[in-house]
Amino acid sequence: MYPKITLKRGKDKPVLAHHPWIFSGAIARADDAHDSDTVDVFDAGGAWLARGYYNSRSQIAVRLWTWNRDEAVDRAFLRGRLARAFAERNAWIDRDATDAYRLVNAESDLMPGLVVDRYADFVVVQFLTLGIEKEKKEITELIAELVKPQGIYERSDVDVREKEGLGSSVGVLYGGEPPDRIEVCENGFRFLVDVKRGHKTGFYLDQSENRRRVADLTGFQKPVRSELLNVFSYTGAFSIYACAANPNVHAVNLDASADALNLARENMRLNGCEANGEFVEGDAFHALRRYRDEGRSFDAIILDPPKFVYSQSQLQAGLRGYKDINLLAFKLLKPGGTLVTFSCSGLVSADLFQKVIFGAAQDAGRDAQIIAKLSQAPDHPILLSFPESEYLKGLVCRVM
Ligand code: SAH
Repeated sequence: MYPKITLKRGKDKPVLAHHPWIFSGAIARADDAHDSDTVDVFDAGGAWLARGYYNSRSQIAVRLWTWNRDEAVDRAFLRGRLARAFAERNAWIDRDATDAYRLVNAESDLMPGLVVDRYADFVVVQFLTLGIEKEKKEITELIAELVKPQGIYERSDVDVREKEGLGSSVGVLYGGEPPDRIEVCENGFRFLVDVKRGHKTGFYLDQSENRRRVADLTGFQKPVRSELLNVFSYTGAFSIYACAANPNVHAVNLDASADALNLARENMRLNGCEANGEFVEGDAFHALRRYRDEGRSFDAIILDPPKFVYSQSQLQAGLRGYKDINLLAFKLLKPGGTLVTFSCSGLVSADLFQKVIFGAAQDAGRDAQIIAKLSQAPDHPILLSFPESEYLKGLVCRVM
């Protein structure tokens, strides 16, 4: 018997539809439930609905584990959920070409609050919530057993933990400490990843498919010199794919982080294309204006900015940010050039993003076509019952 959560009348619909979140406003009574407890959720009439974990300090008061009353949340259950997620990746990832990928994508893999990423022989984990923090020891042991990595490293240094009443937590959970740079493979390309200090768990794994698509679509195949501006380049991944597609690409990597650019240079060297690279440290909003004022132009521009919108209150400012950089990019493109533009803000829908890009093209006085729509890589699945898990969208636009 788990502690009992009773919903307000009429608040059972999303739970019945297998949405994994219950907001605090939907709860009528939490009786004897304590924070981090596994709880049973009942509708106002007393019918059992689902099982999850509870945190009164979070607006997302319950995150659901299961809609099957026979499933206890114990070691065997966690083992089953992890094994399913691992098997799903093993079924399609070409392990000879790719050894860096997401093994568990939190709610989308029915493991709310848990991120598990593989980087060659190491595993990097994030425990984003109090309820999953409670299972840390068990989950670490199970990953060690199922994946047999050299080490498991925790990168729970994320702001969302504050909303759960948790501080940050970083360090070795199992095995050896990862080196400062782990060499990994993605689609046959080699990358050095700093899992201890890099962004997220070290690398933007969600862009793996898009890097390939973009190299295919930008026309880099043609053996003519081609100017690429890779804005928000981080460690240079998009540039490396592009240079491999056409050795005559000159790739300007622009980022605010000197550490990221140092690694970008090393990564380009590792893939034999350092000579194609230029590395510019600076603020994208300023640099794009400077390029405009200097009259520079490019055959392709990639815009992969960080998340601009974290809450509804930031939506308008975020949209202005997207419009600004995209307008400048449209102005910098040669006729026939390609704009590859992303938003990873979940609160900006694909439709809304497309409208912003349309507005940017109009204001730049350019006509453009969408030649591809991009999303997050398949190791970052979108749970159908949880539309919030869709966050990354991209448009490949050709200027006419
Ligand atoms: N395209 C990258 C991921 C980009 S992540 C890849 O494929 O790996 C976003 C990047 O934007 C980070 O590297 C961050 O350092 C950089 N950044 C954030 N704000 C910036 C700004 N105002 N100007 C330039 N770069 C910025």
